[in-house]
Amino acid sequence: MKILYSQEKIAARVREIAAEVTRFYEGKPLTVIIIASGGVFFGADLIREIKLPLWVDSIGAASYIDDRSCGRVSVRSKLKLSCAGRHILLVDEILDTGLTLAELRHYVLGQGALSVRSAVIVAKDIARSQANGLADWTGFVAPNRFLVGYGLDFREEYRNLPYIAILD
Ligand code: 5GP
Ligand code: MG
Repeated sequence: MKILYSQEKIAARVREIAAEVTRFYEGKPLTVIIIASGGVFFGADLIREIKLPLWVDSIGAASYIDDRSCGRVSVRSKLKLSCAGRHILLVDEILDTGLTLAELRHYVLGQGALSVRSAVIVAKDIARSQANGLADWTGFVAPNRFLVGYGLDFREEYRNLPYIAILD
């Protein structure tokens, strides 16, 4: 396993993103929606560095490729809060094709959100995700390899690694 982003490097980047998010939402009520399971790790670190009062909710979502090879996203749980009239920040661990975030952005706007933005700790395939939209805040742009750690799993393992590594 090759470590790409160390615990220290991630923590420093999370603080930078949190400072930008804090400036951006100053004076606007913010609701953070963390996408489970992968986004929980970055989400927990990020919200504790955002220097604003905020609401937190989470939603379960997963993208999968069906046997006809078209990407689909399933929303697996419901929000506790209503999105109506809220400024929403979606938090996930990785942006690959961008389908997960695009689908949730659509879902949240459909619930009446005033605005939707997104943050991920890594973005992988910028070219591939272009069609579905990029994240508003990205920690690192990673090479197109299979990554684990800091929320990223291989069959639900490795999520708790404090760093992000390439799984060989
Ligand atoms: P998207 O919807 O942007 O294509 O993909 C997001 C999802 O794909 C992530 O939530 C994650 O489950 C999975 N994924 C994409 N690339 C990687 C990777 O390099 N490592 C891991 N562990 N999951 C990935
Ligand atoms: Mg996953």
